[in-house]
Amino acid sequence: MLITGGAGFIGSHLVDSVMQDEAEVICVDNLYSGSRENVGHLLDNPRFEFIRHDITFPLYLEVDEIYNLACPASPKHYQADPVQTTKTNVHGAINMLGLAKRTKARILQASTSEVYGDPKEHPQTESYWGNVNPIGLRACYDEGKRAAETLFFDYWRQYNVGIKVVRIFNTYGPRMSINDGRVVSNFITNALKGLDIEIYGDGQQTRSFCYIDDLVQGLKSMMNSEKEMTGPLNLGNPSERTILELAELILKLTASKSRLRFLPLPSDDPRIRKPDITMAQKELKWLPTVEIEEGLERTIHYYNSLNNS
Ligand code: NAD
Ligand code: UDP
Ligand code: UDP
Repeated sequence: MLITGGAGFIGSHLVDSVMQDEAEVICVDNLYSGSRENVGHLLDNPRFEFIRHDITFPLYLEVDEIYNLACPASPKHYQADPVQTTKTNVHGAINMLGLAKRTKARILQASTSEVYGDPKEHPQTESYWGNVNPIGLRACYDEGKRAAETLFFDYWRQYNVGIKVVRIFNTYGPRMSINDGRVVSNFITNALKGLDIEIYGDGQQTRSFCYIDDLVQGLKSMMNSEKEMTGPLNLGNPSERTILELAELILKLTASKSRLRFLPLPSDDPRIRKPDITMAQKELKWLPTVEIEEGLERTIHYYNSLNNS
């Protein structure tokens, strides 16, 4: 099995989980936003191999399953080199689909709720086509992921490649990198240091946060589903919160005296986001199980352990 982006946040948890199932895993990552430490505990395992490689370049391996997760996920990282982000999404998808076509491997694409843009339907079902700005600062990511979905469905229709497309909603947990600018990592690290918590806009925008272990189960169930089950399929936790509520919850759980500071909202920041997961529930019998308080406690514990090591 090949996992691209396997040294990143979601990828490294997926690697851990499939290694427990006795799989042989090749992890391909260019370490742009991931780190060797995320898979460091596996480097001596004979069933695990790490290859530093950028998927925008061809890759010839023999594999039976591919999870394509390579792509920086936080706005800070994907906007630092937007042309490379589009290349990763488009050239990277072409290369991984070419590899799947040649080896007859199943291939799962980590797409995103960002394909819905600033949604005009709420909650978002898979049949909604989205509201995306094609030339904005987020376009390299959301239009890139949309083009990748197009490629996946055309490789399926044209070459009968076994595809699986999942649209992942905001996911959090241990190993989110401290400096990637995402809301959960920013809020927890600032709360622990007693620094101001910075809320972009008025904090009334919403997100729905899924704990990493739940998401990994969803990815694996999708990969192992019937061939006809191509998706696109939403994976996320429908429990929706405002960013202000998230800040207050994190202040409470960390017993922090940090203050809230309000900064301007970045452009094209979606106002609301919540998955409709009826399809995942029906087709995969998948439901998230970890409540946000529990998931945040585990994540806070992780950042605390980094501070103490
Ligand atoms: P991450 O940034 O922690 O991981 C991405 C990994 O991909 C990193 O290890 C990075 O070094 C690697 N990578 C980037 N470009 C590459 C390239 N060209 N070649 C090889 N490796 C490359 O992010 P994550 O949160 O773990 O996200 C993983 C996947 O899930 C991404 O595709 C992302 O778009 C998707 N996703 C994540 C979320 C979320 O909330 N975390 C939500 C929706 C979709
Ligand atoms: N490719 C790859 N590994 C493989 C097979 C293909 O990286 O094992 C890449 C190759 O660079 C190619 C791309 O995937 O350009 C698309 O492959 P496909 O067979 O669809 O296209 P073609 O080779 O006909 O251009
Ligand atoms: N956000 C915030 N403060 C931060 C980081 C993010 O208020 O320090 C906001 C951001 O503007 C967005 C939400 O939190 O409305 C989620 O941001 P994130 O980058 O984590 O995810 P995405 O916008 O990609 O869903």
